[in-house]
Amino acid sequence: MQKFRPSAEFWSAIIFTLLLGLYERWLFPVEMPFLPEQLPHYLQWIAQGGCVLLTAGYIGFSFTCRKTVRAAFLGLFVIAVLAEYGSHYSVGRFSVSDDYDMVLQLFDPTLYKNALFGFSGRVWPAGALPILSYAGALFGLRPLKSRQSGGFRRFGAILLTAVLFFSALYPFSSGSFLTLSLAADLRSFTFLGWKYAMLYRGPRLAVPAISASPPDKNIVFIVDESIRGDHLSLNGYMRPTTPYLEALQSQGLLYNWRDSASGATASTNSNTLLLTGVYQLPDEAQQTRKAPTIFAYAKAMGYHTIYLDLQMNRRWLMSESDFKLVDEWHTVQEFLAGGEYQVDMIAAQWLYDKLRAAPGNFVWINKAGAHFPYLERIPPGDATWQPVLTDGRYYPADQVRLVNTYDNILNYNLEHFFRALARPETLKNTTFIYTSDHGQTLSEHGETWPQTGPTRNEARAPILIIQAAPLNVDTRYKASHQNLFATLLDMMGLPQEYRRYPYAVSLLKATASLSRPRYYVVGDLTSRLRGHLYNFDSP
Ligand SMILES: [Zn+2]
Repeated sequence: MQKFRPSAEFWSAIIFTLLLGLYERWLFPVEMPFLPEQLPHYLQWIAQGGCVLLTAGYIGFSFTCRKTVRAAFLGLFVIAVLAEYGSHYSVGRFSVSDDYDMVLQLFDPTLYKNALFGFSGRVWPAGALPILSYAGALFGLRPLKSRQSGGFRRFGAILLTAVLFFSALYPFSSGSFLTLSLAADLRSFTFLGWKYAMLYRGPRLAVPAISASPPDKNIVFIVDESIRGDHLSLNGYMRPTTPYLEALQSQGLLYNWRDSASGATASTNSNTLLLTGVYQLPDEAQQTRKAPTIFAYAKAMGYHTIYLDLQMNRRWLMSESDFKLVDEWHTVQEFLAGGEYQVDMIAAQWLYDKLRAAPGNFVWINKAGAHFPYLERIPPGDATWQPVLTDGRYYPADQVRLVNTYDNILNYNLEHFFRALARPETLKNTTFIYTSDHGQTLSEHGETWPQTGPTRNEARAPILIIQAAPLNVDTRYKASHQNLFATLLDMMGLPQEYRRYPYAVSLLKATASLSRPRYYVVGDLTSRLRGHLYNFDSP
């Protein structure tokens, strides 16, 4: 047996890993508290040690391989560094598995274009030092050129070691303990692999036909995008952002639950909760994948179901089998004639005609709203409050511009949208239930991200009902997204005995005394370890 003699590769790998660690701690001295690590402290130390060894092993192995294999090592390293540094610049921390889940679910070229455009100015310069140093060591350093014969098996072996190591942590770890970029990236992907492997993929519980007679009204459920409840003048905001909604309120047509809570601060999570009415969290039993969707109930009550997706052209919220309960599916490409900032308004005009023509429609809208980046959400030069942002970046240092830009969009979008849609002709046969999927940070506390984080402002969503027929409701109730599913069922007239799950109280029945602390989820909806509930009422 050969005696172990530390080689040049060994020492180079150790030194490189230590320098990388120091550089990354210097670059990112503060990690955003996002998802508390549930692994006990002593195990975190062991796991961190394991990650250092893994990184050093990765670097050391790569030095002993052939050119093509070294290129593969370098390629993965580059991806990990850019992705993790990008994550840090955008959300203040390295990735967790749910980030990649979101990215994969919302696969959309413009999303990537925006991410690159928004943060590339900082990611590439920051990533250049470790990437160029590693590339230099791999392809340039003379002392390492002696034994470079290793093949792809070595690359496979180190990746397998990483997968096994992180798989052992998966049952206990939140995947958020501090580590090096390469290890953080491999951890996120291993954890995500396990999440996907354990997903329930069977059918949802069916809802049999309940009503034989066609409904005599329309129900329109509007899920806006990134509209923060406390920036509506309807809710007391200082700037007149929502005069039309205020006019509807003064005519007695609008019921307003003011400072309401969203179910989550990430779009896919909050929409999933709205779609299924699941409110017991974390959803470890994966009820969000088993419970009937609101479309199933609408079909059972004889509604013609319409899904208006003003954000995407492909399926993201629902599976192929969920779509069997959607009679009409329209996507953003059909409403782009006036540019991106007019998508919501053109769809509103289209819907206005539809609702006026006949009752019996159940419509779910995912609006384009005020999604970041903000530049494309308002016609050029149409800004009331100045100065505004001039490019697609998120500027914590220029918070005034950020807020002005956001308020301009909110005002432009909501005024035009509701003026086109909520008019006397539609109000007489239609109930509009309005909310937003989540709020925004607007960087009040130096946040570098607009959404998906843990702050309360990200969970501030408006909740309104607009209709001509008088409603007897108690709007002092502390409402949240979880109340909306049963509200929709009540609006459809769905008898209690046909409800296949227990749902949170409907806003048509809730009174102030029934108010309870409200929670919003950050991270993975279905995991106690990798998702965290934040209290909206006592932040
Ligand atoms: Zn969203």
